[in-house]
Order: sequence, then C-alpha cells, then structure tokens
Amino acid sequence: MGKTAKKRRGPQQNPKTELELPVQVGQTVEVEITGLNHEGAGVGRIEGYTLFVKGALAGERVRACVDHVKKSYGFATLVEVLEKSASRTLPPCPLFDRCGGCSLQHLAYEEQLRHKRQIVMDNLQRIGGFSLEGEGAVVVHPTLGMRDPWRYRNKAQVPIGEENGALVGGFYAEKSHEIIDMDECLIQHPANDEAVAAVKRLAAELNIPPYDEQRHTGLLRHVVAKVGAKTGEVMVVLVTTGEEIPQRERLVAAIREQVPGVTSIVQNINPDRTNVIFGKKTVTLWGSGVIYDYIGPIKFAISPRSFYQVNPAQTEVLYNKTLEYAGATGTETVIDAYCGIGTISLFLAQKSRHVYGVEIVPEAIADAKRNAALNGIENVTFEAGAAEVVIPAWKEQGIRADVIVVDPPRKGCDEALLKTILEMEPKRVVYVSCNPSTLARDLKVLAEKYAVKEVQPVDMFPHTSHVECCALLIGKL
Ligand code: SAH
Repeated sequence: MGKTAKKRRGPQQNPKTELELPVQVGQTVEVEITGLNHEGAGVGRIEGYTLFVKGALAGERVRACVDHVKKSYGFATLVEVLEKSASRTLPPCPLFDRCGGCSLQHLAYEEQLRHKRQIVMDNLQRIGGFSLEGEGAVVVHPTLGMRDPWRYRNKAQVPIGEENGALVGGFYAEKSHEIIDMDECLIQHPANDEAVAAVKRLAAELNIPPYDEQRHTGLLRHVVAKVGAKTGEVMVVLVTTGEEIPQRERLVAAIREQVPGVTSIVQNINPDRTNVIFGKKTVTLWGSGVIYDYIGPIKFAISPRSFYQVNPAQTEVLYNKTLEYAGATGTETVIDAYCGIGTISLFLAQKSRHVYGVEIVPEAIADAKRNAALNGIENVTFEAGAAEVVIPAWKEQGIRADVIVVDPPRKGCDEALLKTILEMEPKRVVYVSCNPSTLARDLKVLAEKYAVKEVQPVDMFPHTSHVECCALLIGKL
C-alpha cells in the first residue's frame, strides 16, 4: 500500500476519525474489487473498510487514490488497472469519462444485464428480507436487455452556452455547469442528434445569442428534440429566456428545410434563473405542436412537456410483461396507480373490463384522456390526484379491483396506498418500479397478504446504472 500520493481534495474535515480509519485522503492504495454498487462504481475492501472506485470492475485489482472518507466507507479515483476483468470493454464514446450520462460503457453489455439482476436480488434479500432459494422463493429472472443497446433514447435535452465567443451545446461536465460541446451521443436516436446539431448551426449563423447562465443573459437556453421511434416524427423545442427570437421566420424555415422528419417546432419561454429546463409558456411556431408514436398497437400524442418513456422499444417489453402479470382476460376491473399519460392503462384496457387510472399531474391526466380518445378506447376512467387519496375514495364508492398495478416514482408508494391495497385485497398486484430499494421495501409490506412470485428486471437504460423491474404478487388467500 503506497502512502506517498499527493492530496487531491484539500484536508479531511474530521481528522480525528481519519486516524482510526485504514485509509486516508490522498493515499494511493491497491485494492481488489469484489462487486459493483448501484451507481456502477467498483466496490473494494481494505481491512474491512469499504472503498468505492468509479470505473473499476468486479474481479479487478486496481490502484486508486482516496478522495473522500466517511466513517464506514470512502471514495477513491481510479489510477491504474493492475489486473483487468475479462468483461472490461473499451467505451465507444470518446466522452464517456467526462459525461455524467452513462456509467457502465466500460462493462460488456451481457455483464451489465447480470449486474442489474444482482442489484435487484441484493435489494430483495437485504431490504425486503425475501429468500431467493427454496420453497416460496422469489424468482428473479435474467434481465431483459436490448439486442442493439445503442441509439435508444427518443428525447434529447441539450443545454446551450457560449465558449470563446462561439455557441456550444452538449452536456454539463460532471458536478459542474460547464457545457462540453457535443454533436453525437451514442445512446441518442440519430434523428435527435441531427435535429440538435442543425439548430446549433442555424442559431450560430443567424446570430441568436446563446444563454449565459452566470450572467443570466442571452436567449437560447436549451434545445429539446423528441422523435417518435415508430413514426419518425420529430419535434424541436427551443427554450428561450424571452419571447422575441431575432430572424424567427428564417430560423423556422431553415429548421423545416434541414431537420429530417420535423413535424412540430415549438418555443418554450423560461425567463427564470433556474436549473429547471422548461418555463410555463409554450408557443407552437410551426406544425401541430405534438408528435405521435406507438407503443405496441396504441398511439400516443406527445406534447412538448409531457412525460413519455425514453426507451420506447423496452417500454413495450416492460408493458407486455405488466400485461402478462396482470393476468387480465377481459372481465377484470383494474386500477393503474401513478398512470402518467395513461400508457399502462391503455395497454391494460385492451384486455380488461374497465381500467381506472390515477395520476397527480393534471396535465398528464388531460393527455391520458386525449390518448384514450385517439385510440377509441372507452373502458377507462382517469382521475387527477394523489393515488393514496383517490384510491381510498374509489374504495369508499364501492369500486372493487381484481388487479392493482402501481408504477410509482423513485421514492416508491405512499404507506397509505399500501394499506389501502391490503384492505382492497385485489387478487393480483403488479408493481412496476424504477428503484429496486423502494420496491423491496414496499413488497415487504405487501407480503403480509401477498406472495411475491416473480420479478422481471428490464433494461430500459443500457450503459447507465438504472434498472427497471416488474413484480408479480398473488393474494395468499
Ligand atoms: N406509468 C407511467 C408513469 C410512471 S412515472 C408510465 O409508464 O409512463 C410515475 C408517475 O407518478 C409520474 O407521472 C408522477 O407524476 C406520478 N406521481 C408521483 N406521485 C404521485 C402520487 N402521490 N399519486 C399519483 N401519481 C403520482
């Protein structure tokens, strides 16, 4: 263990603790990496003390410089890989090390899928207390991945700025707001890359002033591009500080001419000093103001600000699994909690008697109703409100559900909702989750009356550390 490395991040805040730890800030250590954590960082141990090394892989021996220590774990920067994992690959993106978007490009895709399944299993065991072997075990299936795990994102949100007098747009360098110029992102749909590159070029040519975040001056803050993967329709959203765009007509005409597939050009005005991308006001500059896409047979209208899953191919895989787990045959009443723009609800409506969807964002519910009408689907009811408030009210009104599907945000389900589900006793619960730790926590509560049968991880975000799951629970009685 070398002890000569230079300090990298200033003095340790708590020197007393430091003395009792096996590593110190600034020290270079050699460490065996035994696993990956949920953020994709390598995990190693030094005299029982946990060290996280970003960029290191399980099975590797690395040299790393300690940056930061806490009482029971610390962080180190990878200096050199001494013994390389057979699963290490060369990240195809030249900006992988600097961009915060991807964290696993250095790991072979098959191993990424295995890692994501392992994360789900660890959470189910540690947080949920579930057994994964023997009688009554939860079956965790291998992660369903993509055949071609690149170019999958249907939405690009690119910050615009200025560097040495030139307009730049790309991504923020890690833990900063410095914009690194970039024209190609390997997980982005090529149509979005093309659209953003064209707008950057045109904005520079037409002297549209880029936004300066520090001084809060300039006009063009973000370029957002969305594409319907099945329809090829492209929407360009220009997020600006003010309403007036110099040479607006020329810009719109040039975008129409130079962006293949463009069917909507929209301006969103965000005058505030904020990290939030969109402001309140949206104006359609050309076209209908929406684009369309299909998930399976269902058509969706996507408006500039509405939430839509970013990996449409894997969304279909996830929703098909959700439909299969719901076990609907055409006679069931189903509740879809946290329904967003009604995507899962409309999928389920094909095989149910009636679907009730609830979602807290009123605009999303308006989209859900519009999407139902667009597809001629009438056996759905959508209501805006908190799932933990609306579903108990439905229960009071005498609505009984055969199946309840939940798809909550990262923080998981509200306790009151879990309690209501236990009281309503649907035959099945299908839990769609983007966070395995809150999934495990909530399944533990539902296990009072439900057997957790299977969990299917789905890779919605290849090369990032995110993992999505779908879990099937069947009533014990
Ligand atoms: N099922 C949808 C959306 C899932 S994202 C889809 O697959 O597209 C989770 C959704 O839960 C978001 O739309 C968010 O607005 C909503 N949400 C957050 N808290 C909520 C609550 N307490 N009650 C209802 N919906 C909520």
